[in-house]
Amino acid sequence: MKKNDLNMDKIISLAKRRGFVYQGSEIYGGLAGTWDYGPLGVELKNNIKGLWWSRFVRNRGDIYGLDAAILMNQEVWKASGHVNGFSDPLVECKKCKKRFRADQLEKNKCSDCGGEVGEERQFNMMFKTNIGANEDSSSISYLRPETAQGIFVNFKNIIDSFHPQIPFGIAQIGKAFRNEIAPRDFLFRAREFEQMEIEYFINEKNWKKHFEEWIKEMREWIEEIGLNKKNIHEYETPKEKLAHYSKRTVDFEYDFPFGKSELYGLAYRTDFDLKSHTTGSNVPLEYYDQEKNEKFTPHVIEPSLGVDRTFLAILCDSYTEEEVNGETRVVLKIKSSLAPFKIAILPLSKKEDLQKISKKILTELKTKWACIYDETQSIGKRYRRQDEIGTPYCVTIDFESLNDKMVTIRERDSMKQDRIAITELKKYFEKKYE
Ligand SMILES: [Zn+2]
Repeated sequence: MKKNDLNMDKIISLAKRRGFVYQGSEIYGGLAGTWDYGPLGVELKNNIKGLWWSRFVRNRGDIYGLDAAILMNQEVWKASGHVNGFSDPLVECKKCKKRFRADQLEKNKCSDCGGEVGEERQFNMMFKTNIGANEDSSSISYLRPETAQGIFVNFKNIIDSFHPQIPFGIAQIGKAFRNEIAPRDFLFRAREFEQMEIEYFINEKNWKKHFEEWIKEMREWIEEIGLNKKNIHEYETPKEKLAHYSKRTVDFEYDFPFGKSELYGLAYRTDFDLKSHTTGSNVPLEYYDQEKNEKFTPHVIEPSLGVDRTFLAILCDSYTEEEVNGETRVVLKIKSSLAPFKIAILPLSKKEDLQKISKKILTELKTKWACIYDETQSIGKRYRRQDEIGTPYCVTIDFESLNDKMVTIRERDSMKQDRIAITELKKYFEKKYE
């Protein structure tokens, strides 16, 4: 399928129809920039997070996991620069009072009514709240706009509990919130989203080497989730556009249907964050090198990944339309490691004896793999349904199965069918999913 033929409407419609993603608060007219993940969406999302966690935390010895609180002391956000600097340029239409991001308007005209817009001002994107019963300046807190700061404030805890050798990292998956002026493009720019971030602490003198290693890590991750390399572009941020504390940033962009946009970021943030929190908290955030008997503030490389953007890229990348016998077949050619369900169990009819044997197969297979059981409508329709949600294999139990104790296995992409003995099923899938 040509990339140009894919549009977001198809993705959004499939996501809703099949229970991947719904508009947040839908029955109340929705809440802009929020999305609810349905039964299949949760599975896919968990698979993404699980793969990431295995790859970067469990399968390495040098990265520690963390799950920090979303609410943090407001001093954290002062020290990090978010209270003063985490803002977007905002303008308001003088006529209809609608607010826009200044950089997204053409010719300084309201894109709704064409009215004139007022002076540009800075709009802080953090969601503010109050902790406890008193609503004064001392009780202010924010919904975290990124997971990274939770990592920096726990740097000393990890050092004290585990005495890691540099280089080492701390990884976290969790929700973050940004009060976007203009949320857009489905999951791409939402007000509530989830991040997978690592702060990798290094000795300054090795930063170039480690940065190159992380570029490779990012490429391998992108390969692991099955995104087509042709749709990925590495963008080296020019020096004049770098954040003041960063010496190098590479964005990994993806060709979304709405255009090439940032999927992941890899940034060398120097010692900016640990230094800022050392100043802010008066607690030295340092590393002690025993061999050299010296103390220093580590520098940091930050691979930052959005869960929702990964989710969206996977949907876009795997969405396929094929012509089969004059009809359009929609298939989600998703990697089996990510598929919400690995196996669909489909009895040809609801007859009791077929149900009995099918349920027995389900009971056996579901202990090892995520299975879905479906006995409604024609078998053709059920195959299409499984194709649309990316289930790699369907097991069909028909009347012949009662006699020969065999079932039909249909493979998603090739639609090839195999007839195998029920007793061989487990072995068959163990081989497929090893
Ligand atoms: Zn207007």
